[in-house]
Amino acid sequence: MRSPILDYLDRAIEQTAHVAPGAPADYIPELASADPQRIAVAMSTINGTVYASGDADHHFTIQSISKPFVYAQAIEERGLEDVLARIGVEPSGEAFNELSLDPDTGMPRNPMINAGAIATHALLSHGARPADERILELFSQLAEREIEIDEAVAASEAASAHRNLGLAHLLRAAGALDQEPQDAVDGYIRQCAASVTVRDLALMAATLANGGVQPNTGERLFSRTTTRHLLGVMTSCGMYDAAGDWLTTVGIPAKSGVAGGIVGVLPGQLGIAVFSPGLDAHGNSSRGVAMMQHLSEELHLHLMEPA
Ligand code: GLU
Repeated sequence: MRSPILDYLDRAIEQTAHVAPGAPADYIPELASADPQRIAVAMSTINGTVYASGDADHHFTIQSISKPFVYAQAIEERGLEDVLARIGVEPSGEAFNELSLDPDTGMPRNPMINAGAIATHALLSHGARPADERILELFSQLAEREIEIDEAVAASEAASAHRNLGLAHLLRAAGALDQEPQDAVDGYIRQCAASVTVRDLALMAATLANGGVQPNTGERLFSRTTTRHLLGVMTSCGMYDAAGDWLTTVGIPAKSGVAGGIVGVLPGQLGIAVFSPGLDAHGNSSRGVAMMQHLSEELHLHLMEPA
């Protein structure tokens, strides 16, 4: 029998479809041709049951939604102390690609803006296997299927990566990057070009909601303390310069990406993923934000609201 949850999600799609989609990101040329009318939503319980509606099997690139997962991987590999010595946890209130480092410490302010994410990626560039290969392996374990890189998007971003290269050079000059800027940016771009669906992202988020254990395989991918730390950072820094607005209205730890995806994590309950490629002024998916607001409101998901 068809679950009523699917009917609910179908309705949520209908109720969000009137929102003006905005324009897809165009600073990565390959993203500019995305169809702004697309919209998808998926939810995964912490038992690993996924419910999805809309364009739920459409593939798009993970982009900045990779940042929290790679940050958790860096903490697991390098230890929290080592990571905190390199990358702060304070919200910056700045755009994702701001050319900025903390003036007092010379470090990136947090791992959710590009400066911090490039430094985080570089922390994984040790050992025999390239970081992007190990990151793809992690994404595949989280999503329970083999995740691949969208090579066209990776090439397109690499051809126009001047800003991220500038950031990596700043990091290198400040002593916050142990790798050559070009290598760090190349690897970071590949991490961002992992190709996913909302179903994948919902399961990835459900692993965080489940304290770091992938719900279906039972594999512990992140420790409880890593997961808790990460969710704190997502709560304060996950939505670019709209983090405060998001926390008050939606109230769910989240991360968005410029291809139009957003993941939300409700600890102990749900992983949620939405997708629509048109973006608002902050670089967040317009319809995605509307959908998350709608779900938070109707299902009383706001963290600050008593159950
Ligand atoms: N690869 C993108 C960049 O670094 C990710 C940006 C994003 O999704 O916020 O510009």
